Amino acid sequence: MKVFSVFGITKSGKTTTIENIIAELRKRRFTVGSVKEIHNEKFAIDTEGTNTDRHKKAGSQLVTARGIYETDILFQHQLTVKEILQFYDHDYVILEGVTDTCAPKIITAHNTEEVDERLDDTVFAISGKLANSMQEYRGLPVINAITETEKLVDLIEEKVFERLPDVADECCLACGYTCTELCARILQGKAKREDCVISDGSISLTVDGREIDMVPFVQKLLFNAVTGVVKELDGYRENGEIVVKIKGK
Ligand code: SF4
Repeated sequence: MKVFSVFGITKSGKTTTIENIIAELRKRRFTVGSVKEIHNEKFAIDTEGTNTDRHKKAGSQLVTARGIYETDILFQHQLTVKEILQFYDHDYVILEGVTDTCAPKIITAHNTEEVDERLDDTVFAISGKLANSMQEYRGLPVINAITETEKLVDLIEEKVFERLPDVADECCLACGYTCTELCARILQGKAKREDCVISDGSISLTVDGREIDMVPFVQKLLFNAVTGVVKELDGYRENGEIVVKIKGK
């Protein structure tokens, strides 16, 4: 699953940029999901006095509104981006307004000052209203998402890679960098996605079909625990693939 973020100040063209990208990616037959970050503290889809609000107030910790055309699952707290992405299995997921992620990013802006305030090494393109007045800034392409949608999506296909695990900086560093630093190096052509050693496929863990990221320390623990037991059993073959399934209750 490939994930990238589009972020910028209010009314700089974020949503228009994303709308055009989604439509073009769908035209190219990719599956697409999106996540919109909302900074308004008062935001809530549910309103005072609805039945689902009454469930919540009574203490229900996960409320679902099942409609004929839409199902909304209302968590009673803010999920991390990583938790949210577990619900997606699309070719591309576009994050709107999310900056606390190691994914590649597009800035939307009215002017170069807004770009300078937000620019870091994980940005690979600029769009939004600034694209009406220039085509390049600080070595990055400035692309009009309305009139040059194909060019922007070509660049997304070229630059955006399978998402990195996004573990806390102090938890891994097995590739020699933080996830954000590796993201920047991949975008600069100095590293490859495969340089993330924790997703080399040699050991994996899934729960209910969802892959769980494990830092090298945990991978090693699991590896030693499982192989330590299995190699004592008849039928063990050195370097054979081991599959353990634990059924939920
Ligand atoms: S090896 Fe992967 S998970 Fe670990 S820091 Fe590097 S990019 Fe992140």
